[in-house]
Amino acid sequence: MKVVKFGGSCLKEPGNLRKVIEIIEKYERPLIVVVSALHGVTSELERSVGNLKFIDIEIFIETLFRRHLKLLQDVVNHSTTTRIERKLRERLEELKEKYELAMKTFRILGEIPEELHDKILSYGERLTSLLLKELLLLKGVECEEVLPENAGLITYGTFGNAFVDLVESAKRLRRNISSSRITIIPGFYGVSREGHITLLGKEGSDYSAAAIAYCVDADSMDVWKDVPGFMSGDPDIIEEVVLIPHLTYSEALELSYFGARIFHPLTMEPLMKKSIPIRLFNINEFFGVFEPNTIISGDEPIASLPAKGVTFTDDIAVVKFEGGEVGRRPGILSEISGFFGKHGINIKFVITSQTSINVILAKQDLKRCEDVLKETKFSFVEKVTYLTNLSLVAVVREGIINNQDALIRILDALKRVKASVEMLSGGASGSSIYILVPSANRLEVVRKIHRELFAHSIYIETNTG
Ligand code: ASP
Ligand code: MG
Repeated sequence: MKVVKFGGSCLKEPGNLRKVIEIIEKYERPLIVVVSALHGVTSELERSVGNLKFIDIEIFIETLFRRHLKLLQDVVNHSTTTRIERKLRERLEELKEKYELAMKTFRILGEIPEELHDKILSYGERLTSLLLKELLLLKGVECEEVLPENAGLITYGTFGNAFVDLVESAKRLRRNISSSRITIIPGFYGVSREGHITLLGKEGSDYSAAAIAYCVDADSMDVWKDVPGFMSGDPDIIEEVVLIPHLTYSEALELSYFGARIFHPLTMEPLMKKSIPIRLFNINEFFGVFEPNTIISGDEPIASLPAKGVTFTDDIAVVKFEGGEVGRRPGILSEISGFFGKHGINIKFVITSQTSINVILAKQDLKRCEDVLKETKFSFVEKVTYLTNLSLVAVVREGIINNQDALIRILDALKRVKASVEMLSGGASGSSIYILVPSANRLEVVRKIHRELFAHSIYIETNTG
């Protein structure tokens, strides 16, 4: 069985839906299709929930209806859409009820319960899956829609950012999903053991698809987007990006954590556990045969690329703990990390020396961290400073730390940028090097490193798939 995921970007242009249907028809059965919301719909739902006081529900719902209808009418003749219109209206009626409930609670409490928030935001995906199912049926393709709450995609953790309970979900999904047909499942959310709808976080439908692939032991997870594959950098920043035909899970993970927002970072985890490859396709390049642009898997084919990606993130801040003795006193790091853990502040990574422990956090956690640190003292720490306005540049490639040629090129590139390198770390996972530079210089650093690594060579990499 294969799990196929269509991102919101596949449902943006007129005619895209026609393409999606053509692709689904070409796949062998059984097949599970996971869908995102139409491009931008989740953000609209989110905005509306944040502005309950100012929105007109009737108009908002009608706009949603029109958007989905428009897509539908690009594919099928107007006269045949009555049933689908009715179904869409029914689902939107459910959404309207949720909004009415939200309004009511908002008036009384000044806020809405997290559960209701998550439920409302899940409707982007619910509308797409319904639309797709009805269209396939209309075209005579046998299929069914199974919602995650009925499939048994069980989650734990917080609303808005839950994790999938893979073991429990696997038991339930195997019972609830047909092993002969096409099953369409809306992505982006699951259900907690208590029966609450919980979102899986921004871009969460990749993670849904990966978790589902795990549960049904899929032989691949095929992701369709409107990009030409996984590139070595952001084409908006770097002119000469190249297509990366193969990545290992850990390379993809590093890249999705730091800037290359191609996947929800948790996507890789369920797949790694069962060695299920991700195959990345471009919806605009489908001409009847399945030829992935990029494959992400556990094994590394013979590769001559010096790096798989050069990327950056501005979402970091550094807390520096200094003291002449921190390097030789036992337990200081655990004191500090225990403190962060106790306050629920996530540490992204740590760079230490004999006289300084540097804790790297997400920017949004800094304020809270400063507040709680004011009241705390750690043994042998004489000074605490906060470094902001830094960006992290990551160069990713399995084994990069052992590749002297790549290291020299990176240093060469840095030499040419007239900016100070604040910190540098490599070798922790073997697949990445992190360079902390002033944010004002990060684009230049990314461009120069990319050029230095990629410019002088011709790379041939073989896909194994
Ligand atoms: N629709 C959700 C979002 O925009 C989930 C997804 O697209 O993967 O984040
Ligand atoms: Mg999306």
